[in-house]
Amino acid sequence: MVERSFKILQRFGNQVPSMASCSRCHYKFLTPSKLQRDPIRAEQYLREKFGLHECKGETLGDPVGPRMIRRT
Ligand SMILES: [Zn+2]
Repeated sequence: MVERSFKILQRFGNQVPSMASCSRCHYKFLTPSKLQRDPIRAEQYLREKFGLHECKGETLGDPVGPRMIRRT
């Protein structure tokens, strides 16, 4: 099972995170341009998006046990 973790891929000017991804499903999160000068809030924003995101792990090999799949 791949541990889900947050990874910053790119930064604006080596400081403000501009792109992050989920290590499990490789979903990418982008920092909105209004936060490009705010390293703290940019990272908070990315972490919040990561926290809310649901992995699309179906294509990454082994099943990780019973899944709760919510259908609407
Ligand atoms: Zn994910």
